[in-house]
This record gives sequence, structure tokens and C-alpha cells, in this order.
Amino acid sequence: MGLALVRRLVELHQGKVGAASTLGQGSCFTICLPYTLSSSTTSLEPLRSQQFVGGEASPVREPDGCLQLPSGSTVTILPSTRVPNILLAEDNPANVDTLSCYLESRSFQVRVARNGREAIALAQAYPPDLILMDIQMPDIDGLEAIRILRAEPQFATIPIIALTALAMVGDRERCLAAGANDYLAKPIPLKALVETIQQFLSSNSSII
Ligand code: MN
Repeated sequence: MGLALVRRLVELHQGKVGAASTLGQGSCFTICLPYTLSSSTTSLEPLRSQQFVGGEASPVREPDGCLQLPSGSTVTILPSTRVPNILLAEDNPANVDTLSCYLESRSFQVRVARNGREAIALAQAYPPDLILMDIQMPDIDGLEAIRILRAEPQFATIPIIALTALAMVGDRERCLAAGANDYLAKPIPLKALVETIQQFLSSNSSII
């Protein structure tokens, strides 16, 4: 599961995943991500403001332009600007993994709630910039959680995107009536999700 996610994420970034295994000794997995130095590509702007922090050894540039990190090194990405804070309310562990990995790879900070009650508590403890709310959840479901949040002045205008597994007639209307700003049906298209998030965040001038 973890490897499948890594492969999906790396390939989304036009990278490659490799594996070498020796019986009785273990396995070595490598990821290779394209790294372009460009002064004209604005989409790489966030990457250029981050730095790698590794051990003593430095990454080695391979002939194909990929960076090969020395084995045993750790990489820390240091963002230079405030990271948008997303609250993800979702009870399905596979969806949590996919969505949080992808959003974190796109430089969002993600807090995860497993039901509506947790979502409300987390939103109060750490007011998010945007909420992704699954509708089918145990305890307090997504629609009820949205209604409860919207009743509080603090959360009256925060963008909430509803996520639902059942693309049924009337879903969109129910989500919007409960107070959601938008609605996405599962399986969630990751690229469209990030575009929707960025639209809502950029209309709030204090973020991004
Ligand atoms: Mn669910």
C-alpha cells in the first residue's frame, strides 16, 4: 500500500521509482524526481524557496537530471512562507493516506479528523484555512458537522468542500444547503481537488 502510494505520487511528478533486493540482506528503494533550475518557470517558485537539509553528503546529480540522495540521508523541506492549513475530515484510512500524502506533497499542512465530532473539535483547536469534509462518517456525519460549524461565527465563511462517495441526485444540493461551498464526488480527482482548494484560498487574500 505504501509503495503503491509512493509510486503514484512520484509518477504524478514525472519521477521514477526503482527497487533492488538481495535475499537475506534487504531491499533498497530509490525515487528519482526531475529537478529543473529555471528562472522563468513560475510553477517552480515554491520549490526554489525550499532547501534540502541532509547529512554530511550532498545529493548527487545523475546524468538524466535526477538527484540521487546519499543513502541514509534524511530530507527536510523548509517552507519559506506560511503553509495553508487544511482540515481533512474522512473516516476511510485509504482515502486519508492518499489525500493527505498528496496535499502534503503540494505544500499544504493537513490535520485529519476521523468523524464529524473530531472535525469540529479540531477546527476549534486549530482554525483551518479550508475544510475537506467527507459526508458519510460515523458519529456526527459530514452534513451535520457542516451545519454545526456554520452556526459558529468563527466558521461562517471558511471554505468547506464536501466529499462524497455516492454521486446521487440531490447530493450537491444537500451539501450546499448544509453550508458547503463546493462538492466533489469520489474518487476524488487529485489535480482538480488542489485547483479547487487554490481557488478558494486565493480568493482569501491573506493566504497564498
Ligand atoms: Mn466516509
